[in-house]
Amino acid sequence: MGLHKAYRLNKHRVTALNGVDLRVEPGEIYGVVGQSGAGKSTLLRSVNLLERPDSGTVSVDGQELTALRGSRLRAARRTIGMVHQHFALLSSRTVAGNVGFPLEVAGVDRARRRARVGELLELVGLGDKARAYPSQLSGGQKQRVGIARALASAPKVLLSDEATSALDPATTESILALLGRLRDELGLTILLITHEMDVIKRICDSAAIMESGEFRESGRVLDLIGTPGSLLARSLFPIPEDGGPDTVTVTYPRSFDEPLMSELTRRFDVDANIRGGGVERVAGQSVGRLSVDVRGARRAEALAFLSERGLLVEEAGQ
Ligand code: ADP
Ligand code: MG
Repeated sequence: MGLHKAYRLNKHRVTALNGVDLRVEPGEIYGVVGQSGAGKSTLLRSVNLLERPDSGTVSVDGQELTALRGSRLRAARRTIGMVHQHFALLSSRTVAGNVGFPLEVAGVDRARRRARVGELLELVGLGDKARAYPSQLSGGQKQRVGIARALASAPKVLLSDEATSALDPATTESILALLGRLRDELGLTILLITHEMDVIKRICDSAAIMESGEFRESGRVLDLIGTPGSLLARSLFPIPEDGGPDTVTVTYPRSFDEPLMSELTRRFDVDANIRGGGVERVAGQSVGRLSVDVRGARRAEALAFLSERGLLVEEAGQ
């Protein structure tokens, strides 16, 4: 909480974290999205104290990590797993050797290690790859190994730094599905960082938009989308910004069963011409954002009707 971090680089101070407050609820998938250099990786490394923040506190599962040192800190860190963009596998070890590595370091005996590695590989769908070497695997399979290794010490929290950024879209989809399943089956809490809006759309319950070491916006994804002026809504649903005086932006922050637009034209005798936008599955709901020209004598009544039904209506000029 209240995290600050600055680096010294050729006598310049680079502020990587400028007062970030992040709270992730147990069992949720929280995504931090932002451009390169925004401070995402620094934030993630601060959560397991690979990077010690200059000020602020970090608590995980009720324990304040920033107050711990030495062996107690190392023990607390074992409750946090980490997945990396470029997998970070040991090329000279087999898949089983990679997944078992953290257990070896923790002094777990061979028989228990073997059983646990078997379980972990089954969990990520690589039960038949124990003896393969990383060079014999596809990118998606390598990331599954990375995830299995991160889960070796049965952590409660999983951190993911751009886990899907090196993968093609279909493989990305399968890794995101795996993360979602692990959250459901193991009750994991997942904090992931990404520069891909699709990742936020696909699996995140909550999200933050990070820029220059700060959160510009954060909260439950569906709440943010329903908030006037939301950056997240704009990034998820780019629409034409060149509206005229009759143009409104209509946001559906959840699924609606009724065909509201056709009801609008019927009840209020207005013309509703959709200029752009889209509807997509976000956090399990059909969410949409449309740019619409609404014309007619009863325009104001028509827009009030949409607001009453729970849609967010914003005049484009605002
Ligand atoms: P992101 O993951 O969003 O791309 P980073 O957290 O990696 O951003 O970096 C945030 C800022 O901190 C950048 O300006 C970066 O150059 C700087 N930075 C990150 N790590 C270091 C480091 N070890 N030494 C110096 N500067 C760093
Ligand atoms: Mg990064």
